[in-house]
Amino acid sequence: MWAKLRRLLRRVSQLHAHLNNWSLSPDNLPSDLDSFRSKVPVTRPEALQTLALFDENPKNSQQIVKFTVQTEHSPPIYLGFTEREISIYAAELAKYWAAIGIKRGDRILLYDYGTSPLVYLASFAFTPHLNRGAAERLGAVAICNDGLPELVDRAIHVVRFVKPRFAFVREEVENPFLGRLASEGVLPDLEESFECVVVSADETIFLKNSNNLPAEFGKLQLTERRLLRIDVARFFALQCPLDSRSFHFSPDLHFVETVDPTTLKPLPSGEEGAIVVTPIFILAQPVLRYMSNLIGSIEWDCCRCGSKQPRLLF
Ligand SMILES: [Zn+2]
Repeated sequence: MWAKLRRLLRRVSQLHAHLNNWSLSPDNLPSDLDSFRSKVPVTRPEALQTLALFDENPKNSQQIVKFTVQTEHSPPIYLGFTEREISIYAAELAKYWAAIGIKRGDRILLYDYGTSPLVYLASFAFTPHLNRGAAERLGAVAICNDGLPELVDRAIHVVRFVKPRFAFVREEVENPFLGRLASEGVLPDLEESFECVVVSADETIFLKNSNNLPAEFGKLQLTERRLLRIDVARFFALQCPLDSRSFHFSPDLHFVETVDPTTLKPLPSGEEGAIVVTPIFILAQPVLRYMSNLIGSIEWDCCRCGSKQPRLLF
């Protein structure tokens, strides 16, 4: 992990103007993980509003893809990616989709906003400069329905006529969506299984026992899992099938740690604190030590579900 992080810091240090954001200079870069954690201050969302995109340098011919983060922040926060980075991010989403069970030929309903990475990483059809989205990587087809509650009719039509095997549903529209499916008896028409994956709002955790659907949804025979997002850090974590408090994540693309939410001091491994994430694959707009609103701990031991991935524990 340190070797990857060191490469990122070297690249960051080549662009002096941005070093002020993290009080770093090219001659004074951290020498190991501990000094990285103690030397580089955490980044809060406000700092990102003024963070320019590195590759806006006219000498660099790379295309930059930009998205707005769906938040209350004003001015809005933009996320920038090179083509390569958005491709890596889409491949990461495809891994989570594969872990959920999505495979070649599957149809997937996305009932979420277009600014959600679930949607913009899903298909080249939705995003410029994305050659292969998560759906194309798995040989699946994604059908998008904007995440507004008033578009629930359209989402129900998609289920009825397209018969998707999976639906990714924004948390706020979960109940209207499931309620309409139940009241219209749509699901018994489905020939195959149907799984509803609830997409948390950015940096939001909502713990619910997946076996505990309200009685009116009881006959739906739904499996529910939750996908956690930290959009600024380009980070996903998928709810463990056996433990609703655990969210598995891939440690390959992110350095994940915890800090004391008040003093911002780094905490030892396993101790509960604010979840801080550094995406090591993003150079177009590097984000060092992004401090999320999530409070939890990081568990590195093997999980009882069999996954060897570490997990966030809430
Ligand atoms: Zn697990």
